[in-house]
Amino acid sequence: MLKGKVAVVTGSTSGIGLAMAKALAGQGCNIMLNGLGDVAAIEATRKALADETGVEVAFNGADMSKPDQIRGLIQETADRFGGLHILVNNAGIQYTSSIEEFPEDRWDAIIAINLSSAFHSTKAALPHMKKAGWGRVINTASVHGLVASIHKAAYVAAKHGIMGLTKVTALETAEDPITCNAICPGWVRTELVEKQIAARAGEAGLSVEDAARQLVEEKQPSKTFVTPEMLAQVAVFLCSDAASQMTGVSVPVDGGWTAQ
Ligand code: NAD
Repeated sequence: MLKGKVAVVTGSTSGIGLAMAKALAGQGCNIMLNGLGDVAAIEATRKALADETGVEVAFNGADMSKPDQIRGLIQETADRFGGLHILVNNAGIQYTSSIEEFPEDRWDAIIAINLSSAFHSTKAALPHMKKAGWGRVINTASVHGLVASIHKAAYVAAKHGIMGLTKVTALETAEDPITCNAICPGWVRTELVEKQIAARAGEAGLSVEDAARQLVEEKQPSKTFVTPEMLAQVAVFLCSDAASQMTGVSVPVDGGWTAQ
């Protein structure tokens, strides 16, 4: 369906981003991976994805808190593959603390990586999409783009911000064959959440599995974790022709969390 299209997925060295990169590669997209991590492990991931799918897969390690590196990522993608069609803004970090205890540098980092990065990448990518005459911007937001939880001031602010950016991007591209939408996952068991599970286990004296169960049952009515692969298939759908008139919306995949 997406054969020959070019996709850049930020924060795709693990978790949700990696699953999205795999699913888009499976549809025939050439892929620019991005993210942090062990160089040898990332190269193994890149090579395995290319070998499994037969598409071209490259890697750019831009730090998504650095606007010049983000512009470099977009430009290198367009230069390397001769264009850019799909941008998935997915890189993200978390820090939990009350507002009164929240370290300023964690606030700045979360706003930079989870929100401002998407502005810089979208700004740089839209001209390439317009030139190609087709584009999709997909923002990995969160249920925390729609509702709040305690101890996540920066994350909730950034994710609400990305919902606003999603709508503005959609409106400014409404007359172009470009869409911009946000996917809003509930709990997904990735590295980002394993840290929160481990902290809960430590604080409450629970096993990791009991802490995971408690965490998911607290907010997610389905009492079941969302998987990265489910979210990846939503991203593929948002790139389909059937979704060409879906723009500026949020798609919760949250086991009923935001229905409450
Ligand atoms: P993850 O930790 O597995 O993945 C995060 C990715 O972002 C990694 O590839 C990491 O290397 C990358 N990254 C972090 N800082 C970066 C930086 N400065 N520059 C470049 N890359 C950077 O976690 P995940 O759960 O897969 O998170 C992906 C996205 O999904 C995030 O935006 C997160 O907020 C969102 N999300 C996650 C959940 C969940 O429950 N896991 C729920 C809702 C939304």
